[in-house]
Amino acid sequence: MPHSSEPHPSPTLSEFLKLLQNKWTFRVACQNECDSLGPCVCLRHIVHVEALEEWWKQTDRSQRLLNELGPAEGELVPFNIKVLFGQHPCLKVFSLLLKQGHGLLLVGFRAAGIDDRTFEDEAKDNDSRLRIELERLSTCSDVDRVIEDFQKERWAYCPPKLEMNMDVHLQNTKIIPPFCHKIKLGEKGGTASIYWVTVQKDLISDESLKNAIQETLYTDKDYGDCYQMVLKSYHGDYQSAYDLEKKAFSGLKHNGSVPIVGCFGCYTHEYGEGTNAGKAYNLLLEYGERDLYEHWED
Ligand SMILES: [Zn+2]
Repeated sequence: MPHSSEPHPSPTLSEFLKLLQNKWTFRVACQNECDSLGPCVCLRHIVHVEALEEWWKQTDRSQRLLNELGPAEGELVPFNIKVLFGQHPCLKVFSLLLKQGHGLLLVGFRAAGIDDRTFEDEAKDNDSRLRIELERLSTCSDVDRVIEDFQKERWAYCPPKLEMNMDVHLQNTKIIPPFCHKIKLGEKGGTASIYWVTVQKDLISDESLKNAIQETLYTDKDYGDCYQMVLKSYHGDYQSAYDLEKKAFSGLKHNGSVPIVGCFGCYTHEYGEGTNAGKAYNLLLEYGERDLYEHWED
């Protein structure tokens, strides 16, 4: 754990941190092939947010953690559990702060308008307001470091959820897709690249997608049970090619007799996480024989 203003985790907090580290944190692949360009700076893990939220829902236990943590600066009593689930839920923000050893600074983050919804939107960031709120707290001895640590790791708590027929346009957010392997098939294409991608079984909760990729399940030596898919990723300048292909796939959906790979969904992002991570348009495709994809690149 990094530096800590709460040096002795209470029993419930210890239990939480152990689960967070051992059960809910999943290693993922480099997102941008930065290995070839030098050291990878991608954050190589994501958090299984749904599992984490389930844990918090057992409110007796959650309140116990809050009680053990004690009151925040300027407060007489510990946080009430309602604070975490209320109108501005902040389970993810609080979990990240607990992990970084300063859960009680949640007061400052909340005062600065940071909750689980604004958390995912970089456009709503207001670091100067956060700085003012944290500087008010005498328990926050290193404001720069707190903000820097928070900014660095927040994206692990906002992984996109893979679902059947997903059609997501992500803006103002860095993206860490949940792929534990991401390996390019064939040579670099001019407009699009095709990757073999795998996702750990526990990270797919959408039943419909689960059914569709059931057959691809295999046991990976590093990651255990994983599903396989194919990702076709168009680079930023090729939106029209992407739009055409997306349209073609939506037409195919109604014709099960065509022996071609299916498309499960798509997501686009303004920028990824790591270096060399610009705008991209992504189609999530059915996994089939490799040759099928190679002639497809351009
Ligand atoms: Zn990387």
